[in-house]
Amino acid sequence: MSTNILSSLKPIVSLAKRRGFIYPGSELYGGFANTYSYGPYGSALKNTLRSLWWKTFVEKRADIVGLDGPILLHPRAWQASGHLEGFNDALIDCKACKSRFRADHLIEQATKNSAEGKTLEEMTQIIQESISCPVCGKKEFTEARHFNLMFQTQMSKTKDSAETKAYLRPETAQAIFLDYKNVVDTTRVKIPFGIAQIGKAFRNEITPGNFIFRTVEFEQMEIEYFIKEDAWETTFSDWMEDMLLWCKTIGLSEKRLAIKEHDAKELSHYSKKTVDITYQFPFGVGELYGLAYRGDFDLSSHQTHAKEKLQYRDPKTGEVFLPHVIEPTFGLDRTLLALLCDSYEEERLENGETRVVLHFKPHIAPVHAAIFPLMKKEPLVNAAKKLFHSMQSVCRVEYDETGAIGKRYRRQDELGTPYCITIDFDSLEDQTVTVRERDSMKQERIPMNKLPSHIKALISSEGSDLHSL
Ligand code: ATP
Repeated sequence: MSTNILSSLKPIVSLAKRRGFIYPGSELYGGFANTYSYGPYGSALKNTLRSLWWKTFVEKRADIVGLDGPILLHPRAWQASGHLEGFNDALIDCKACKSRFRADHLIEQATKNSAEGKTLEEMTQIIQESISCPVCGKKEFTEARHFNLMFQTQMSKTKDSAETKAYLRPETAQAIFLDYKNVVDTTRVKIPFGIAQIGKAFRNEITPGNFIFRTVEFEQMEIEYFIKEDAWETTFSDWMEDMLLWCKTIGLSEKRLAIKEHDAKELSHYSKKTVDITYQFPFGVGELYGLAYRGDFDLSSHQTHAKEKLQYRDPKTGEVFLPHVIEPTFGLDRTLLALLCDSYEEERLENGETRVVLHFKPHIAPVHAAIFPLMKKEPLVNAAKKLFHSMQSVCRVEYDETGAIGKRYRRQDELGTPYCITIDFDSLEDQTVTVRERDSMKQERIPMNKLPSHIKALISSEGSDLHSL
């Protein structure tokens, strides 16, 4: 595959809209900042990734169980987790044009140096002394100040008061800690074990942007893996391997992935060690996933705030201890963006034309196979529809009879469909069909009765890396 490294997100944004992957949120009302809607093919891709992740890390592992916790947690949980106090970004405004920026991003963009670990005062000084507003060019900034990223809402009639402040969860992790004891008490899990969750998280990001890379509402796939303290180093490196294997399994190019360890200044309040898996996006290198050693910060803090014992009792040795936690976290939306960028190609054909192709691995593609009658004519249409219905139980199929066959191929190339199956007049005679492969554009005749096993083998062989996890 000769996929070009894109220099901008423009072609991806345009394809995503044109082909029904991703639409701007509330477009009917002129859009709603940094929210997006996943269209028919985007939601299919998301569902595939979500269920593949769940299969890989929950169903195929004896040591991990699933959870589906609430988005709204007791407000005291956010006090215990440190989010009420410390989940802040530094915000700075331009007094002249009223544009608002994240102070660290402004510094990083202007100076190309990291602003991680800098205090509000240090950031204010750098910006006020040496940076012009990227929007109006003036140098009239306010002081930098903290801005909590949690969305607030109200819950009426709780038992404590008529109305209580509540927060949309900014990460899925805390719901897992809140139910850690329930899971231990009601299932057969034994340390080491993990609890996995997939769900929405919400952050009132100050300067979201870069399409779906940074949005205010996004989906996380997280595992809290509970261990004895002395096992943390091996568990951490095992998880790093598994996360990289996942990247390979879904088809991300190794050359665009890298590992970046946070230095002491960058570490979150809960973390003893954090390593990001980064991806080379068209706009630069950005965090794709994170792996953190959270120590016993969360269980210990919830134990104190909730006044409930959260210790674990080893059933064999009788030893009682507070487990430590390794947390692998995967952003679903960033996975999708990385996959779109990785698989996008504008390919120059021999006849001088350009075709746009998404080179998804076959098992990831939103549509595995498209079925066409050569022409919109009977008895071809009837035969193709029959084949479409029989293939629906085999894989994700789509039926298309509209337009010239060449145009239908191009449309499927842009959707990343690996196989197109055409029924022509010969098919009616000899019961064979043409299968056209997306990347090579090669065509072969396959007997219709062999088609289900043929396609099944093609789409599942690509997923075989998973079995070694
Ligand atoms: P960043 O430094 O980019 O703000 P983070 O370190 O705050 O990210 P985590 O809190 O580690 O992110 O969240 C776990 C994962 O959730 C990230 O690796 C990323 O894939 C995803 N994620 C975090 N924030 C967003 C967002 N605003 N939009 C989309 N995905 C996000």
